[in-house]
Amino acid sequence: MNPSSTRSDKLRELKNYLLFLKDYGYTEIPQQVELQLGASKKADKKTSSSSTQNNPALLQAVQEELGDCTRCKLSEGRNKIVFGSGNPNADLVFVGEGPGKDEDEQGFPFVGRAGKKLTEIIEKGMGLNREQDTYICNIVKCRPPGNRDPEADEISACKPFLLKQLEAIKPKVIVALGKPASSTLLGRNVPITKERGTWHEFEGIKLMLTFHPSYLIRFYTVENRKAVHEDMKKVLEVLRK
Ligand code: SF4
Repeated sequence: MNPSSTRSDKLRELKNYLLFLKDYGYTEIPQQVELQLGASKKADKKTSSSSTQNNPALLQAVQEELGDCTRCKLSEGRNKIVFGSGNPNADLVFVGEGPGKDEDEQGFPFVGRAGKKLTEIIEKGMGLNREQDTYICNIVKCRPPGNRDPEADEISACKPFLLKQLEAIKPKVIVALGKPASSTLLGRNVPITKERGTWHEFEGIKLMLTFHPSYLIRFYTVENRKAVHEDMKKVLEVLRK
């Protein structure tokens, strides 16, 4: 990349970030601008470093084992299994609750309205590239009818595959999006409005809890947007170490 394109990329990145901050209710530029702009570089480093295990092959094996799954009743109404997408070597994994209508049609996670919001948080808010720097998946891989929360029997049928995905990727940080994902990963009922922004641990991996992007869309307040942005700044701090 030539120096002028690097400079214009940086300026575009900075402009996007400032617009993001404005939208998220900031009236001053926080000190962490450098943190956000440096994030992508850091993630590139991990992506290019040679991993001792073959994550793509491990992940592929998990997907093959899942196959055309009928292990729970969600298989009856689904169009496509939504296994997950992104970089198998990513440091950062987002876990949502389950596919919605758009995801069920396309077979990819977070491609609808909530997906656009998540992409905005990742790319504009964190300065990362969604496909290169993160991996995204859900607690259940088939759409619950009418977008209801997944039920206990469905979660327990599908959870082993989420565990295997996380074992294959071995991220530095997991972000649980919303209450069902947080409660499933922590094995208890999580009051998300109280506990978002707090660090936990899942299978030895640092776990951050935050609001689901659909919640953010539904309750589009400056307070909620700022809260998610603050949570993601904590994640960036750990990713940079
Ligand atoms: S939700 Fe999971 S366990 Fe249930 S059918 Fe789909 S892939 Fe299988």
